[in-house]
Amino acid sequence: MNRNRKPLIAWLTMIAIMAFPLSIVAQTQIKYHSNRFSIQDDVKLGRQAAQEAEQQFPLLNDSEVRSYVERVGERLVAAIPSQFQHPEFDYFFKVVNARDINAFALPGGPMYVNRGMIEAARSEGEMAGVMAHEISHVALRHGTAQATKGQKYGTLAAIAGIAGTIFGGPGVGQLAQAPFAVYLLKFSREYETEADILGAQIMAGAGYDPRDLANMFRTIQQQGGGSSGGFLSSHPSPSDRYARINREAQLLRINEGTRDTREFARVRERLRTFGPAPTMAEIARSGQRYPTGENTSYPNRAPSGRVEYPSTRYQNVSIFNGGVRVSVPSNWRQISEGSSVWFVPEGGYGSYNGQAVFTHGTNFAVAQTNNRNLQRATDEIIQSFAQGNRNLRASGGYQRTTLGGRQALWTNLSNVNEATGQPETIRLITTQLSNGQVLYMVAVAPQGERNFDTAFNNVLRSVRIND
Ligand SMILES: [Zn+2]
Repeated sequence: MNRNRKPLIAWLTMIAIMAFPLSIVAQTQIKYHSNRFSIQDDVKLGRQAAQEAEQQFPLLNDSEVRSYVERVGERLVAAIPSQFQHPEFDYFFKVVNARDINAFALPGGPMYVNRGMIEAARSEGEMAGVMAHEISHVALRHGTAQATKGQKYGTLAAIAGIAGTIFGGPGVGQLAQAPFAVYLLKFSREYETEADILGAQIMAGAGYDPRDLANMFRTIQQQGGGSSGGFLSSHPSPSDRYARINREAQLLRINEGTRDTREFARVRERLRTFGPAPTMAEIARSGQRYPTGENTSYPNRAPSGRVEYPSTRYQNVSIFNGGVRVSVPSNWRQISEGSSVWFVPEGGYGSYNGQAVFTHGTNFAVAQTNNRNLQRATDEIIQSFAQGNRNLRASGGYQRTTLGGRQALWTNLSNVNEATGQPETIRLITTQLSNGQVLYMVAVAPQGERNFDTAFNNVLRSVRIND
């Protein structure tokens, strides 16, 4: 009896084992292209290109948005099939404060996701689709493989050209002459198809519906409209891609997993409170260079003190989930950390002893206080400032003013900036919100520097409060 059954059980076990590999075999197999570069070359070239890219693109320095994108990225990286994993690679994910629907990745792992891409995506899955596609270019070493095949290899420019952006939004066509056009070079159709297929496989492995990668093409087509035609025409057509990805999706089994689907909505909500992002073309035209700060919100050096005059053009910005609207010079950059928002000119901020320091700019924040008396609540705020700045002094008393159409107090403070050692003037304007908390605006500039007075007054007058 035993003898008769054993073979049957063995058979069943074998079928069970066979059934699993068979479903894997069914998905499209992808292979590496020949590559004359070493793995270490990918890492090195990508790092150099990333450093260059970070000087050309304004990063969105918001820890909440960035850590969210990082979590999605890491989930995808963990799902790269083992034959395409390289322990030497260092995948990281940063958000570029640009409006265009775009993303690019560099050899060895650095990836830059445009804010416009997150804003265009209709779900986390669609955003993850773009990222999975880009990760696939990196894992398949398409950058150095393309350089191996071709023309001009040997120069960083050719190799960094790697960067596939898949998705072009309006304005990409105008970038041909831009200094960073190199990041936007295109891969062959063959490489693009491979990145779509491996991207779909990674999506499924990470617990996402691979069809969301296809859906993202529709979303981009709808949102980019005709103006993205130039870019898309040099790529396999979105409808081809759509069909190809969906065909692959039918072969894939989606890994079960639990995700917090509210996170995407929360991050989108948060992005809505930031000022409008510039387009890539605007960034290119400005020719502005940005300080590189490895994984930090602030450049890892003292503020230069050399700052541009405030632009006479202003942009409207909504902060604190729309609770405050304010108009700031268009050449000021927004830096949000928790419940504190700075608007600063380039060169007017940096870090010192590991702390963020500001020499020029305005800061908005909401202070928790139990004091319903505005003057006493303001005293509390000044005391809290003084804890970190032993040279801080109130000069003159309180003056009545208005902020957002309501009663406010204006106090002048003097201080010695810890990073520059220069005396500075701090204006503090406070007003009570309906919930009893205090909204305050700070304007800081070196003592005697009057170039910022007009801008500060304009910012102050523009404040609208909606509590
Ligand atoms: Zn691509």
